Amino acid sequence: LHNDQLDAWDRENFFHPSTHLAQHARGESPTRVIRTASGVHIEDRDGHKLLDAFAGLYCVNAGYGRPEIADAIADQARELAYYHSYVGHGTEASITLAKMILDRAPANMSKVYFGLGGSDANETNVKLLWYYNNILGRPEKKKIISRWRGYHGSGLVTGSLTGLELFHKKFDLPLAQVIHTEAPYYFRRDDLDQSEADFVAHCVAELEALIDREGAGTIAGFIGEPVLGTGGIVPPPEGYWAAIQAVLKKHDILLIADEVVTGFGRLGTMFGSDHYGMTPDIITIAKGLTSAYAPLSGSIVSDRVWKVLEQGTDENGPIGHGWTYSAHPIGAAAGVANLKLIDDLNLIENAGKVGKYLQQGMKDALSDHAHVGDIRGEGMLCAVEFVEDKDSRNFFDAADKIGPQISAKLLEQSKVIARAMPQGDILGFAPPFCLTRDEADTVVAATLRAVTSVLG
Ligand code: PLP
Repeated sequence: LHNDQLDAWDRENFFHPSTHLAQHARGESPTRVIRTASGVHIEDRDGHKLLDAFAGLYCVNAGYGRPEIADAIADQARELAYYHSYVGHGTEASITLAKMILDRAPANMSKVYFGLGGSDANETNVKLLWYYNNILGRPEKKKIISRWRGYHGSGLVTGSLTGLELFHKKFDLPLAQVIHTEAPYYFRRDDLDQSEADFVAHCVAELEALIDREGAGTIAGFIGEPVLGTGGIVPPPEGYWAAIQAVLKKHDILLIADEVVTGFGRLGTMFGSDHYGMTPDIITIAKGLTSAYAPLSGSIVSDRVWKVLEQGTDENGPIGHGWTYSAHPIGAAAGVANLKLIDDLNLIENAGKVGKYLQQGMKDALSDHAHVGDIRGEGMLCAVEFVEDKDSRNFFDAADKIGPQISAKLLEQSKVIARAMPQGDILGFAPPFCLTRDEADTVVAATLRAVTSVLG
C-alpha cells in the first residue's frame, strides 16, 4: 500500500486508544506505522530503526522477533486455532500453561483463571472477591481500596481502580465501590524531612484512617502493583508491603497483587510478590505472560480464595463468569513458548543485572543535572523525574510537558523510545529483558543528550 493511502485510511477509520481527540481534529496526530522488529529494535515503514527502551508497553519482555514463540503460534493455529475452555473443555496448550504458571507462582497459589488482557483480569479479580464474600455470607464487604497513581486498566471497574485522573474525568469514575489511598511515593512526600520509615508509617496511618472511615466490614480487597508502573515507576519504600499487609490482615481485607508489569521477571525475580515478600490472595498477570506475542492474561487465585469459591458452586450453579477467548489456545501456545524461552536464556537474571546497570548508568550521567530530581527503578524498570527546582522539587510551570519534550527529543536525535509517563514529568524505561550492556549505554548516552538539549 502507498503511504499516503494508508495514512488517509488511518485518519478516516481508526480510533486509536488514548487518542488526543482535539489534536486529531486539528490533524496533529500522525501515526508511525511499525513494520517489523527484532531484539530490542523496531523498524517503521520508512526503514527507521528505533531502540525500544519501553518494550512496547512494557510487555515484549523476551524481545522482538523470537522464532520460538512465532513458530509455536503458527503450529497452534494450524493444529487448532480455537476451541473454548468453558468447563468440560480445554486444550493441551492452556492446560500446560496453567501448570507452568503455578510452578512459577508463590507457594500459596492454587489455580489460574485465564483472560485476555490486564484490564479484564482485574475485572475478574474484583468479581471473584465479591463472589467470595457472598459465599461467606457477608454481601456488604465489597469495596476495593486502590492507590492514587495505581494503574489497573481502563474499564469501568478497572478504570475506577486506576488512580490517575485522566482515566476518571468525563467518564463519571470512580465507581462508588472503589476508594483510594495514598501512593507510596517517597520522593513526592509532603514533608521532605520525613524518613522512609516515617513515610511508611504515614501511608499505614492513611490506610487505617480510610478503613476506619469506611468500616472494615464494607471492604473486600486492596489492589496494588508491587512497583507503581504507569503512575510513575515508583518502587515502594523499604518495609512498605510488610506494613500494609499487616493492616490488611488485621481487617480481613484480601490483597490483589497486580503483577501485569512485574510478573515473570521484570524486577529480576519471577514475581514482584517474591521480590517484596508479599503474600497476595490473587495475582494479576498479563503482558509478560506471552511477551505480548498474543493477548493473554490470568488471575492466579490462592488456596484460601479457592477453598471458599469451591464451597459456592452447589448452591449457585456454575460461576457466571467467562469470556469466549478465555485461555485462547494461540495465546496459551505463545505463553508456553515464551516462559520456556525466558528460562532457557536466563532472561530474568539478565533483566536484574542489566536493569541495575542501566539505572546506575542513568545515575552516573544525570544525577547532578539541575533539573533531575530523582532516578529510581527496580530490575528492568527505571525512571528519571524532572523538577523545576532540585531543593523544593517543584514541578515546571508546564507540568506534564517536559517528559514528552524529552522523549520526543530522544526519538528525534537518537532513535530511542522511552515513555513520558502520563502524570508528572517522568521519563520511563522498561526495555526487553535481552537488553545488553552496550544497548544500555546507548540508552543512557541518548538520554543525557536529550535532557541537555531540552533543559540545558
Ligand atoms: N495492570 C497494570 C499494572 C498495567 O500496567 C496494565 C496496563 O498497562 C493493566 C493492568 C491493564 O492491562 P491491559 O492494558 O492489558 O488491559
